[in-house]
Amino acid sequence: MSLDGTYDSANIFAKILRGEAPCAKVWEDDHVLAFMDVFPQSRGHTLVIPKGSTARNLLEETPERLAALMVRVQKVAQAVRAALNPDGVVITQFNGAPAGQTVFHLHVHIIPRWADQPLGRHGGGQMADMAELQDLAARISARIE
Ligand code: AMP
Repeated sequence: MSLDGTYDSANIFAKILRGEAPCAKVWEDDHVLAFMDVFPQSRGHTLVIPKGSTARNLLEETPERLAALMVRVQKVAQAVRAALNPDGVVITQFNGAPAGQTVFHLHVHIIPRWADQPLGRHGGGQMADMAELQDLAARISARIE
């Protein structure tokens, strides 16, 4: 899906937001939901998505919702750092399939990095163990301020 197109409310993140699909939830408020990526590029890979939005990507989001999202991305990234003590954190976001986007509901990746560990492949690799994701989600959630 290129940058052109319309929002598909059957996308997996919309289903997660409606409670129709499971997730390892880290945190939520009125504006966003944060949960663990099931194909993590590193241990602790977390996604933050806006609620009440039909933006497929950053270019389509309203300035107000985008500002609310990014402030909360910082908050969750700080909790990831506090919980997992990484050496660095990648914050990334893809717009359109040619750019690497695979789920077409706006989302931001928080990917903790350790100096001695390679980054996993984006949009591939092995599905994580749900129990392990739930444990990581609980650890990160406990550090949300
Ligand atoms: P992107 O490729 O930027 O659109 O990112 C989509 C991300 O969603 C990828 O990193 C996938 O691993 C992740 N993903 C896909 N399905 C799920 C799911 N059901 N729960 C959590 N993460 C998912």
